Amino acid sequence: MGRHCIAVIGGDGIGPEVVAEGLKCLRALSAVEEELEFEFREFPFNCQYYLEHGRMMPPDGLEQLGACEAIYLGGIGSPGEVPDEISLRETVLAIRFHFQQYANVRPCRPLAGAAFPLTTCRPEEIDFVVVREATEGLYAGIGGRYHPGDAKFDELAARVPAVRSSREVAVQAGVYTETGIRRVCRYAFELARRRQGRKLVTNCTKTNAMNYGMVFWDEIFTEVAADYPDIEHERRYVDALAMQMVLDPTRYDVIVAPNLFGDIITDITAALQGGLGMAPGANIAPGGISMFEPPHGTAPDIAGRGTANPLAAILTAELMLRELGEAHAAERLHDAVAKVVEARQVRTPDLGGSASCGEVGDAVVAALGGLV
Ligand code: ATP
Repeated sequence: MGRHCIAVIGGDGIGPEVVAEGLKCLRALSAVEEELEFEFREFPFNCQYYLEHGRMMPPDGLEQLGACEAIYLGGIGSPGEVPDEISLRETVLAIRFHFQQYANVRPCRPLAGAAFPLTTCRPEEIDFVVVREATEGLYAGIGGRYHPGDAKFDELAARVPAVRSSREVAVQAGVYTETGIRRVCRYAFELARRRQGRKLVTNCTKTNAMNYGMVFWDEIFTEVAADYPDIEHERRYVDALAMQMVLDPTRYDVIVAPNLFGDIITDITAALQGGLGMAPGANIAPGGISMFEPPHGTAPDIAGRGTANPLAAILTAELMLRELGEAHAAERLHDAVAKVVEARQVRTPDLGGSASCGEVGDAVVAALGGLV
């Protein structure tokens, strides 16, 4: 319990709308939980800021954020106004890299009452977490584009038959470092140890097709696993795992995955939870400054209408509370959201209702026992 300083970046699109509801819930919690206090520092880092200043944040932006305990972010991007490679690289990616937020954590704890696509199990039987490596792999931005005459072009032609008949070839390389693999695998095992789950870590890999990166990943995973004899471990190829996550998601506890595979399989977890409006996420820097950001984007198609589902952002605030050591408040917030979803009364259009973003936030506050 204590006073927590939170950096708040609403961002673009539906970001500010859903973050406002998350803050509303955190303020309500602070009113009903003894000794839980927040100082919210709002930062206007978004595409509007870029249009006015020619950059997404001031030169000391990261320093300003670093003065807080955690970062709560809505979503960044306005493709018509600022190219994604600028808006995302200069904010979300810059923050992730600067603070070494290497573990992208996506819990899958579907709530009864939300859309559930499976008939083979009940939503409350599913409780697992995907830990996605978030700082390297195929998203490291390494590679290039080559033309006939380039030395690299000839080198590639010797390995890949269609290069010779091409006018151009692009290479996107995956970077897998010993440090990067080891720390994310360790995080997954530590998480499995802390959770009241099956004490199982599933390694999501593709050793048969990716003979350098994934073979190395598997070697490090196996070394880390040896330090955790109390935790079971297994290996699954990403394609088989994707199928199993649909056929029997109840059997998983913690899944650890490289960046690209993790990105893809976590959309399966969102589907199990009722869609992007229901799925929380966090970028964790163990022992450092983590960023809590719902995995959905800025949803330009519904921005400004007040119809965005704020529950993903509110459940993301729950993850932030857990990381701040406020487990009791976190569970209380989770229960309040579960109550609202199960009651099926106040829900946004993505869940088949007609309530506004603000009305859903108000319903969660009411379920927390707070005054709206
Ligand atoms: P971005 O470019 O920022 O990623 P996007 O529209 O490509 O934006 P998302 O924001 O993830 O990607 O949205 C994908 C779809 O899911 C959209 O149709 C959007 O309206 C819907 N969606 C996403 N988040 C929510 C939400 N919180 N509530 C309701 N619908 C949502």
